[in-house]
Amino acid sequence: MKNYLLTATFAVMISILMSCTSKQEKAETRMRDFISGYETRVIPLYKEAALASWNANVTGTNEDWAKSEKASFELTKIFTDSTAFRELKELRESGLVKDSLVARQLELIYNSYLGGQVDPSLLEEQIRMETEISKKYSNFRAILDGKELSDNQIEEILRNSKVSADLKAAWEAHKMIGPVVAGDIVKLVRHRNMIAQKTGFNNYHEMTLKLSGQDPAEVTRVFDELDELTRESFARLKGDIDAYFAKRYDLKTDELKPWHYQNRFFQEAPEIYSVDFDKYYEGQDPVKLAAAFYNGIGLNVDAILAKSDLYEKPGKNQHAFSTDIDRSGDVRTLDNVKPDSYWMNTMLHELGHGVYSYYNDKSLPFTLRDAAHSFTTEAIANLFGRFATDPLWMNDMGIIDKAESEKIATVSSNALRLQMLVFSRWAQVMYRFEKSMYENPDQDLNQLWWTIVEKYQLLAKPDGRNMPDWATKIHVALYPCYYHNYLLGELLASQLYYYITTNVAKNPSFAGDKAVGEYLKQKVFMPGTRYYWNDMIEKATGEKLTAKYYAKQFVE
Ligand SMILES: [Zn+2]
Repeated sequence: MKNYLLTATFAVMISILMSCTSKQEKAETRMRDFISGYETRVIPLYKEAALASWNANVTGTNEDWAKSEKASFELTKIFTDSTAFRELKELRESGLVKDSLVARQLELIYNSYLGGQVDPSLLEEQIRMETEISKKYSNFRAILDGKELSDNQIEEILRNSKVSADLKAAWEAHKMIGPVVAGDIVKLVRHRNMIAQKTGFNNYHEMTLKLSGQDPAEVTRVFDELDELTRESFARLKGDIDAYFAKRYDLKTDELKPWHYQNRFFQEAPEIYSVDFDKYYEGQDPVKLAAAFYNGIGLNVDAILAKSDLYEKPGKNQHAFSTDIDRSGDVRTLDNVKPDSYWMNTMLHELGHGVYSYYNDKSLPFTLRDAAHSFTTEAIANLFGRFATDPLWMNDMGIIDKAESEKIATVSSNALRLQMLVFSRWAQVMYRFEKSMYENPDQDLNQLWWTIVEKYQLLAKPDGRNMPDWATKIHVALYPCYYHNYLLGELLASQLYYYITTNVAKNPSFAGDKAVGEYLKQKVFMPGTRYYWNDMIEKATGEKLTAKYYAKQFVE
């Protein structure tokens, strides 16, 4: 009897509560239910795919690549569920999900599903094509005088040789990857465009930017502004560069070719200033230095390094990346470390990505434990990578003494300035080439590439050259429509550096200053992707993303 009464009272209470439940609460409950089912399925597959990709990149075996392909297909397949997409679309269009964290997850998850509303067999085909191309890049070794050379070895020749014929041979040997992959890439580009068009976008470039929360017109505007801001300074510096190389190779400036610029793509500054940073790193351990630095600013990287794969191996991916395996602390970086300034920069860079992931806010839902945008994590990586050639930092880290630091101060800042300008022009090439390629993949891409290279990098196309040189840059095929984020990352790195040195750090090298780590944790890492990227930047620095600090730092 007593029990019955209690139950009846309870039922009345519940019905009163139900009638009070607003439409908003109902919609938010529906979204919360969706999220919990979503997480149950996504979290294990996300982890499995991340681990499989990691293993494939480390071993390079066909078996591991096959596993990776299968795992990433299983993960991608989730987002093709049209019933789930209809639920998200209805909730989104109702405008009733207002709780900020739930609404943010709805936005992000909706975009993921929108990207997946294509015939699953088309997505499977895309992954298969990408994996095939990826293998070709991984296994390619330039052949010079009958010997197989790694990318590192090609770069070494381009950097050090003074013999034009040798430079040309090394440059051309590397460019032989172009014809191996170009046809596959054009097919892949058409395939990606078909998917974008079926999803309601004009092309894959537009789709990728929009689904990542960027308006292509806004990005183009930033690139136009930067072009404006850097054009004259760059032309002046390019004159200095050409004068330097004409002397180095005993040529006239109009005889200089793309292989004379000490890099496969002229994406990095040639060493025209007489600081040989590599010599300071001979006998140094970039891994130990990076660890000491990060630990010193209160961002402990020991757990990341313990899981990382740091040195060259046969079959292993020759590049560098950082990956967050589970968004719960398993963060790793793959590198091919050598004791030189390039790998010092790269270690600082990859661990910058690493700490951004590692110090996420574990109380946030899975979907929000991610960077605000891919370019905001690039900004952190770049902010730290720049220190590799900063004399103040090198002095504070015990790599050089104070006298040496002062001696190379001016020339180092000139070198960094040159590096930033050279890179900004190269990023223009990548952004504009990709945009145009996706707008029309059937145009003459070989010519398009060189037209853009000549315009933005002021390099001269070798006479009569008609090769798919655009296809020699792995990012065009496998990290599509992403490169512009590196430049946006540089802009934000400058904005953060300016903010931190003005308001947070006692020391411009940050070394040993735990306030820097704390600031980044609180203002950048822990917010994850709970705010729109430009809102996060405004909360962290008091301003939306602006090019003015980049200009302040690098353009006269
Ligand atoms: Zn990066």
